Amino acid sequence: MTIDFAPEPEYQAKLDWAARFVREEVEPLDRWIMDARGAPGSAPDIVFEGPPAEKRAFDKQVKALQDQVKANGMWALHLSKDLGGLGYGQVKLALLNEILGRSGMAPTVFGNRAPDSGNAELIAHNGTQAQKDRWLKPLLNGEFRSCYSMTEPHAGSDPGEFKTRAWREGDGWVLDGEKWFSSYADQSELLIVMAITSPDAPLAQRASMFLVPRHTPGVEIVRNVGMMHQKFGGGEHGYVRYNKVKLPEDALLGKEGSGFLGAQTRLSGGRVHHAMRTVGVCTQALEMICERALSRTTKGELLADKQMVQDMIADSYIQLKQFRLHVLYAAWLIDRDKAYTREVRTEIAAVKVAAPKVLQDIVYRAIHLHGSLGVSNETRLAQMWVAVPTMGIHDGPSEVHKVTIARQVLRGHKASPDLFPTYHLPKEIAAARAKFADLIERQVLEEA
Ligand SMILES: Cc1cc2nc3c(=O)[nH]c(=O)nc-3n(C[C@H](O)[C@H](O)[C@H](O)COP(=O)(O)OP(=O)(O)OC[C@H]3O[C@@H](n4cnc5c(N)ncnc54)[C@H](O)[C@@H]3O)c2cc1C
Repeated sequence: MTIDFAPEPEYQAKLDWAARFVREEVEPLDRWIMDARGAPGSAPDIVFEGPPAEKRAFDKQVKALQDQVKANGMWALHLSKDLGGLGYGQVKLALLNEILGRSGMAPTVFGNRAPDSGNAELIAHNGTQAQKDRWLKPLLNGEFRSCYSMTEPHAGSDPGEFKTRAWREGDGWVLDGEKWFSSYADQSELLIVMAITSPDAPLAQRASMFLVPRHTPGVEIVRNVGMMHQKFGGGEHGYVRYNKVKLPEDALLGKEGSGFLGAQTRLSGGRVHHAMRTVGVCTQALEMICERALSRTTKGELLADKQMVQDMIADSYIQLKQFRLHVLYAAWLIDRDKAYTREVRTEIAAVKVAAPKVLQDIVYRAIHLHGSLGVSNETRLAQMWVAVPTMGIHDGPSEVHKVTIARQVLRGHKASPDLFPTYHLPKEIAAARAKFADLIERQVLEEA
């Protein structure tokens, strides 16, 4: 079995192009967003809030860049060919996402922004031909935004607590309940909503997913919830109420009762993509550490020559290297198994848990090393830092993923057959004595 993460020269050339393009064309869009909203360096979001004419100019520029990405064969790389994408696979996507992780706008420009990327995967896997024709193609073309509406105000990581219901009525469905943190709900054409359809069924078959056009009567955006660094009243995460929303029969996505299974597919993809982009963020933070350490002197010596600073650089390098290889390994497993097998899900859970820790450690060191500049709003470090707690929560908190990992690890082990462990030294010594008894006896006889 060969594990090789090096791309062919043709794909490497595409990556080199993407790296240059992101630095020279896409990262300036992030700065433009920051400048327009008057909050330099403090917002990781990708919504333009400037004057209308400037917003139109911004949108035009985004579209022009998207066209260049399409022309270079780098658009919507997250989907395989049979699902409507370009089919380069997850390792190649990981290498691209490391580059895109540097910029908030890059996933939009490259056609794989969340939550659209995961939503497209869901429709591609579970949709009927008619659903794909209506929603998938325009979604893949970046023609509109979509929203994934699963978390509820009282329950996020435990689907057993969900209360939003859907039931059959006439020749369609009625959807009723509340959802929370439905990102970009108010800007989306399509909401994919998880609802309990068989409350008495076993948990795995209890829920179904529905394709809900945003402007369907009864869909109410109660308010947008902002993140901790945003001003009150702003933000992109919809608190949504579905007031007995009437839906046609064909609003059901996938089989009735397959909602939670479908969510696994959707969230598994999203989780590993977040981890891939986190490699890019951490790489950028380490670059900043190194530039600063090589630029600043104190007590007549460069920071880079101080052993405690070298300790920071070495620890950051080791953590990033280990994390990156783990993410690439998870991507390689997905390419190998072509499914979210138990092994794949374990590695995805592992990188999902590792991501916030590595991000926190490296970005904190970068902030600390930059001193007052580090804690100011004049570098990208603020943007990186506010993403740390989010990383440990969205797409399921770390605790839940650790349970997945621990269960899988334990699967390969057995309890000791008696009171003392199998590795108890007195037991092992007795076993070794028994094993060599004949040998010892022969030697003793020979020497007698
Ligand atoms: C930026 C962002 C964007 C999001 N976008 C979306 C979206 O588009 N659509 C959507 O549906 N949701 C979205 N979410 C919601 C996200 O998926 C949930 O926040 C997440 O699943 C956790 O649910 P919760 O917030 O209800 O926290 P809870 O489930 O209440 O968990 C809170 C804490 O309780 C503890 N905990 C929970 N479960 C366990 C356990 N089994 N064992 C031990 N401790 C535990 C952990 O410390 C955990 O952090 C988004 C969240 C964020 C932060």
